[in-house]
Amino acid sequence: DPRLKAISDALSVVPNFPKPGIMFQDITTLVSNHKVFKHTVDIFVDRYRDMGISVVAGVEARGFIFAPPIALAIGAKFIPLRKPGKLPGEVISEAYELEYGNDCLEMHVGAVEQGERALIIDDLVATGGTLSAAIRLLEREGAEVVECACVIGLPEVKGRRLLDGKPLYVLVEPR
Ligand code: 5GP
Repeated sequence: DPRLKAISDALSVVPNFPKPGIMFQDITTLVSNHKVFKHTVDIFVDRYRDMGISVVAGVEARGFIFAPPIALAIGAKFIPLRKPGKLPGEVISEAYELEYGNDCLEMHVGAVEQGERALIIDDLVATGGTLSAAIRLLEREGAEVVECACVIGLPEVKGRRLLDGKPLYVLVEPR
């Protein structure tokens, strides 16, 4: 698919951000290119439009860029999975490990109904810790996680097609 090369070419890499030694994969140059942003959304929409998905969950913050256009195009609802203290209603929380310390994702109670088929979207998967917390949130509320999908998969997940037993779909790996 020639669109994948265009997507890969539109990413930029910022050395030493946010900390020395980290090569940060920057998606702002992808989404500022209308054609390539559309290719990215289209690939996901083609894959998920006929899979009976009724909820697309986006992971704060960069998952919020990709999940809503996918949700609109496949006729599903969008729900935000947020960092602690951001959602105003009753929430459930799941902690996950970062390189240094822990973080947490929250979801509104009642955001999904029992048995709903869910897709989880983020920009990038590295260790899979963030997506694992997202899976647990949705499953605790009775949703069925059909797949997790990201634009970028770091080499840690190269060849990995499953995440906690759930299918994982990534478009590109960093050059
Ligand atoms: P994981 O939990 O899989 O180790 O890390 C993935 C999370 O960290 C995602 O939410 C992602 O947005 C963020 N992340 C980590 N490194 C990068 C990076 O280099 N670029 C971008 N855009 N996000 C990153």
